[in-house]
Amino acid sequence: MTTSRFTDTHRLFLQAAISRRLMTEATALDLYSQVCNATDGMFWRHLIPRERFNQDQFTEFVTQVNEGLNSVELEFRRSQDETLGTPMMALTNTNGQKIAQVATGYSPTELEYFKHLLDAIVMADDEAYCISSTAALHEAGKLKNKENKSISITKRDAEALLDRFVADKWFIRSAAGAYSLSMRSLLELQTYLKETYGDQIQECTLCMEIITKGQRCMVAACSTRLHHHCAASYFKNMHNAVCPTCHSAWSGQVLIGVSDRTSAPPKVRRQRRRDNDDASGEGDVKEEGEDK
Ligand SMILES: [Zn+2]
Ligand SMILES: [Zn+2]
Repeated sequence: MTTSRFTDTHRLFLQAAISRRLMTEATALDLYSQVCNATDGMFWRHLIPRERFNQDQFTEFVTQVNEGLNSVELEFRRSQDETLGTPMMALTNTNGQKIAQVATGYSPTELEYFKHLLDAIVMADDEAYCISSTAALHEAGKLKNKENKSISITKRDAEALLDRFVADKWFIRSAAGAYSLSMRSLLELQTYLKETYGDQIQECTLCMEIITKGQRCMVAACSTRLHHHCAASYFKNMHNAVCPTCHSAWSGQVLIGVSDRTSAPPKVRRQRRRDNDDASGEGDVKEEGEDK
């Protein structure tokens, strides 16, 4: 199917989704039932309650929408919120190079700061996947323009920008002041992150989605990482929890990423990139969990 073969149902759904961008799957299903009721009234005299729209029907509909969007490099993606496990959906850009098109409404300098923060979070040492507010402000002093000249951005501007990134739901700020990737970033920047960071972007062993908050196997050589919600459902009926890959005991206590209980390291410590060393990294760099 191409966009030219979209029906009113497809078009209405897309319009609603574009204005929202990120929504829970329940909201998406609600929207779907609303547009079906609005466009197929000729066939169904009565409004059909949402419960009558089953998941399979909706999945099929989303597949059709995605086939149509393929040529314009957009896609509906589904994922679960890393902290809560809530199923989410977002309209995402499949062309990883167009970060400026994904994170719209920012100036080139602001985008440069955004990319620096993303980099510091993704490359954080020891799978911390976060950056402290002190370190985030420090990053603002390292920005360069296309000609490799330093761009100055005041501390006050950097603070305001950080607030904006959080308000726009690109980053989450923990109670302890650490910035980490939001569901929006993980869904909308998925292609960018995978293309830019390759193997450094880890996936949950169970759901295969990107993981930046969760649990890891106690065996250093084992690459198993699990979202908290994935671990909870996997181990639910298991008497003795064991790693799904190496079968050693699973404590659930070895964590990756930031939680509200932990604070981010005050300085940026990046792990070493696999392809070329990151010269801007500070402090000791070590490779942790390099087992893939
Ligand atoms: Zn998972
Ligand atoms: Zn393991």
